[in-house]
Amino acid sequence: MISLRNVNKNYGTFHALKDVSLEIAQGEKVVICGPSGSGKSTLIRCVNHLEPHDSGEIRLDGLEVGAARDVLKVRRTAGMVFQNFNLFPHLTVLENCILAPKLTGAVSDREARKMAEDYLARVHILDQAWKYPIQLSGGQQQRVAIARALCMKPKVMLFDEPTSALDPEMVGEVLDVMGELASEGMTMICVTHEMGFARKVADRVVFMDAGRIVEIAPPETFFAAPQSDRARAFLSQISH
Ligand code: ADP
Ligand code: MG
Repeated sequence: MISLRNVNKNYGTFHALKDVSLEIAQGEKVVICGPSGSGKSTLIRCVNHLEPHDSGEIRLDGLEVGAARDVLKVRRTAGMVFQNFNLFPHLTVLENCILAPKLTGAVSDREARKMAEDYLARVHILDQAWKYPIQLSGGQQQRVAIARALCMKPKVMLFDEPTSALDPEMVGEVLDVMGELASEGMTMICVTHEMGFARKVADRVVFMDAGRIVEIAPPETFFAAPQSDRARAFLSQISH
């Protein structure tokens, strides 16, 4: 479903991704962890072409990421959830969810609204549909952001530290929704340091450092017996 082969990405003279290769099967859930600045966000932003990569090949559900004709399809195939929610502040919860599907022109207003209501119900927040983002808690806003992404019917969901901006008591409700999505078979890449989530949901953990993938292992192996000094040092610094 997702394939990266020898992907390199530079920001000016800074080499942010170094020969990154990763294959993710349909339905697989991958957690990416690693120190700040190791390239985690860059990797997932390259997957849906929010950042162009410089060399190597990225494929998403058969699409060539970066090929001009496929950019819109790529964006529809991979839904993205950001650390800071990125909801439109001037739109209600329902309008946030309806906007993009309507812009595609592929669904009627009624269908777009029905779909938005369905997904808002699935993230347990339909009762807040008429509020504006600022009237919601962080956890609620992030669940709306997940519903909004799902309204585009993506085949893959990319999460970039979706709980790190939340107060601790709201982390669980967002991870629960992500866990439900995972159990429904969604292909997912989650950048997160929530190691409980990684243990429960991830098929594999990818550990990055300094722009490279250093280790890939099932969570039980990664946590019990990390292979590299860098992964051991990283794990000793975070609570898990
Ligand atoms: P992570 O998500 O693992 O913290 P990032 O992928 O955000 O790391 O960043 C990797 C490196 O690339 C960091 O050193 C960061 O400063 C740099 N970087 C990220 N985005 C940009 C950008 N738009 N311009 C220049 N440097 C960037
Ligand atoms: Mg990041």
